[in-house]
Amino acid sequence: MAQLSDDCFAFGGPMMSVDDAVGLIAARVNAIADIETVALVDADGRVLARDIVAPLPLPPFTNSAVDGYAVRNADLPQANAEEFPLDGRIAAGSAADHPIKPGHTARIFTGAPMPQGAETVFMQEDVRIDESGRIVLPPGLKPGANVRPAGEDIPQGHVALRAGQRLRPQHVALAAAFGLTTLDVVRRIRVAVFSTGDELVSPGEVRAPSQLFDSNRFMLMAMLRRLGCEVSDLGILRDAQALLADGLKRVAGQHDLILTTGGVSTGEEDHVKAAVESIGTLVLWRMAIKPGRPVAMGIIGGTPLIGLPGNPVASFVTFVHVVRPTVLALAGGLPEPLLPIPVRAAFTYKKKEGRREYVRVSLRKAEDGALEAIKFPREGAGLLSSLVETDGLVELGEAVTRVEPGQSIGFLSYANMI
Ligand code: AMP
Ligand code: MG
Repeated sequence: MAQLSDDCFAFGGPMMSVDDAVGLIAARVNAIADIETVALVDADGRVLARDIVAPLPLPPFTNSAVDGYAVRNADLPQANAEEFPLDGRIAAGSAADHPIKPGHTARIFTGAPMPQGAETVFMQEDVRIDESGRIVLPPGLKPGANVRPAGEDIPQGHVALRAGQRLRPQHVALAAAFGLTTLDVVRRIRVAVFSTGDELVSPGEVRAPSQLFDSNRFMLMAMLRRLGCEVSDLGILRDAQALLADGLKRVAGQHDLILTTGGVSTGEEDHVKAAVESIGTLVLWRMAIKPGRPVAMGIIGGTPLIGLPGNPVASFVTFVHVVRPTVLALAGGLPEPLLPIPVRAAFTYKKKEGRREYVRVSLRKAEDGALEAIKFPREGAGLLSSLVETDGLVELGEAVTRVEPGQSIGFLSYANMI
């Protein structure tokens, strides 16, 4: 399990910027060293534990990039088309049994190895076959055209994948191209998830008129699973310090991270703070982020705890900026900074200087083809519909104070966040 020092999340300033939060997490969270071996088909989404050095060049042999006719460079027609007699036929998966004869051409297909001596391939669309069956090749083709040299993609010995890479389908494809059948990955990060609040019941339970169904826990568990975590669903903890403390203490030590939602504000019924302080250490990060509010960071017996706000949108946004980098750091993952893509604002907005804001927007294609961001009409941090009916978040930096229609703004798609 992760073992962190009690003061690892301590922060000096009154307000924590998003960049400070990400930097502090990266600096203070220790990566888990446990490695397991998984079959290639199970590797998607896992974090690679060791560098992969190319055991063979890609492509492994020099081959034709097209269906056509192979010739020696010395025979390439210069000023006029020239006729060539055929010398052999090489399909993908077979190989020529002799070097190409000077002044000849070989029929060759995409992916077939070049016959020895042949260096250039004419696309079949560019040649003509005359009445006597000779191949008429046009002048002017560049030496080496339509050939894929061995190792042009990746030379043998090159570090092709880095330890810490979160594997996506293209990384799995590369491992397969090297002939690997298994990969060493970091074991899944174990996360305990609790909701807190007397007003909450789980879906499937009887809901009293003053209660609502717990939605955050299901959102957070889904986000964690997308990050490759093994999630323990620990249900809902009541708004009582002793019960909260018991619940948290029970799971510390068996998990790499404890995640809670709700109860971290400074109201009389917000007990997470006191509960953590009674059994571990706690710091409250007042993050300069909207939607957000405070995020609790703590350590219980060496296990880190993150307490997210209860409002669903605040919970979502702080997950992306605090939990996501923590999970990546625990897994020893390479940083995956979220890079906003420029789009055109189709709204007016005023904001306070000094904090970062995330505005929920939908994208549409304008008449001139540019992508425009349309702001969700309402702003409440409790509106789940605002996350469902939009495509992502526009990031407005600390220095921004207003947005005018037509202005270029940075867009982050929900699809890229997790
Ligand atoms: P809190 O941070 O506990 O003060 O909660 C802030 C708001 O978020 C309140 O309206 C809560 O009812 C709501 N809330 C807290 N936890 C959840 C949850 N797990 N699912 C849905 N709403 C929640
Ligand atoms: Mg609450």
